[in-house]
Formats: sequence, C-alpha cells, structure tokens
Amino acid sequence: MLIQRVTDTAKLAGITGSCADRMKIAKQLRAQFSKLAEDKFEKQGFVTQAEIEGFYKKLMPNLDLEVVNLPKNADYQGQCDFKYNLDKKSISGYRMELPFSETENIIKKDESKYIKTMTHEEEHSILYATQPKYAIKWTKGKLSTEKFDLQSDKYGDFIYNNETKLSSVHNKKYLRSSEPARINFIKKDLSSFFNKNSFTPEEKIDTLQRWRHYIREEMTAYKAGTSAFVNKKFPIKALSADLKKRKSLTLNSTFNAGKKLSNSTQKNMKRWKKKYMV
Ligand SMILES: [Zn+2]
Repeated sequence: MLIQRVTDTAKLAGITGSCADRMKIAKQLRAQFSKLAEDKFEKQGFVTQAEIEGFYKKLMPNLDLEVVNLPKNADYQGQCDFKYNLDKKSISGYRMELPFSETENIIKKDESKYIKTMTHEEEHSILYATQPKYAIKWTKGKLSTEKFDLQSDKYGDFIYNNETKLSSVHNKKYLRSSEPARINFIKKDLSSFFNKNSFTPEEKIDTLQRWRHYIREEMTAYKAGTSAFVNKKFPIKALSADLKKRKSLTLNSTFNAGKKLSNSTQKNMKRWKKKYMV
C-alpha cells in the first residue's frame, strides 16, 4: 500500500504542478503573509498569536497549523515542528513555536529579532505546504527507526549547528580554517559516523540526500528572515545588536562574527555572504 506521507491537512489544498509552479505559489504566499503582517504592524504596532493563526486560516484554510508560544526554557528561538500520525510515517500538520511576549502573546513591530524568527518559521511552513518533499524528508521513510534517530541527531548536533556544538578549541580552529579544510574535516567526521553505525551504502545516500534537503530548506528560511529586515526597513541597528547577543552561531551570526577572525576568514565570509544572503 502506498503511504501518503504528507496528508491533506499538511499541504496546500489542490497543490499540483511542477516544482517551478509551486515556487511561484510559495512566492505569492510569502508576499501575502508579509502584507497581512505589515498591515497589522502599521495599524496597531504589533501582531498577535491569534492573528498569525488567522493568516494561515485565510491563506491555507485546510492546513492543520497551530501557533503557540515558545517554551520558556527553549534553547532555540522558534520552530515549525511537525504533527505526526501515530506510525510516525506521515505528517498531518504543524505546530509553530514563536517568541511572543509572555504577558500579551504579541510580537511588536520593533522586536526585529522576533520578526526575523517569525518570517523564518513561516518560510518553513510555506515550503512544507507547497513542496511536500521537504516535509517528507522528516518522516522516517525507508530508514529504520534507530538509523533515523541517529541521522537526525547527527544533523542537529553537527550539520545544522556544528559551530556551537564543537568544543571551543575545536570551534576556533574550525572557523579559522579554509573552506577546503572544513570540507575535509566534515568528510572525515561523517565517514567515521557512517562506519561506526554500520550504515549501508543505500542508507548513506538516503541520509546525505535528507541532509541536503534540510540544509537547502534552512538557507531559504534564513534568506527570508534576513530579507524581512533588508526590504521592510526594520531597524538594522536592532538586527546587529541581536546578532551580538545571540549565543548560537548560526549561519547569519557566523557572517557577523567576522570581526574577531583572521583577514582570510573574513574574506571567505564576505564571499559566502554574497553567495548565500539576500
Ligand atoms: Zn529553520
């Protein structure tokens, strides 16, 4: 039996067509979301949790998506998590955690770092709803449960967030090394990971493809989050202050941490920035 890995409540109703067609729809949705949020910011200076949920009801009425406040002890800034069916093999909807103010459940117009998170997570949801292959990669699919958990953890600890998870000595050395040296380091680490856990060639390919999807998705979401500042005249000063404060060295802050690094690394970062940022 064919398993529908993203059910009808987890993708935009009637979504069909080529990848390019879907990208077009995603672009329209992105613009519509921005317009709705901007109107609220203009009229009242903030947007509420219920209003964000309302944007989804309006633009993607069939989607099962709830918007909740980020848990107090969270070590991340926001997320668009999946709701799974019991077998964990299909996704039925989403749960978006955003950093609302504790007392009022609002995000203010001038809370630029929160607007960036909101736009970033919204981008994940648009991608999942219009390009279900992104969401499918998060289901267990062909990999056995144990292997899936191993590869998920490896992604979380090493691929997505390797700058923060590596020890500080390792971290400095890693950040200061050239791009080929970094790639070499990653190659070695991954091959020992695959060997240690006896991944078959097929599982290796499957895992690497998943990670490629995850990374591309993050790049898109970070671009969307960053352009929310650049294009919408959100206070740029607040953005850099926010980045300085951030504990986690994600892609954005890596670029902005350039001051402390060697000239050649700074040059590399500028190159990367040009390549990957809006
Ligand atoms: Zn993300």
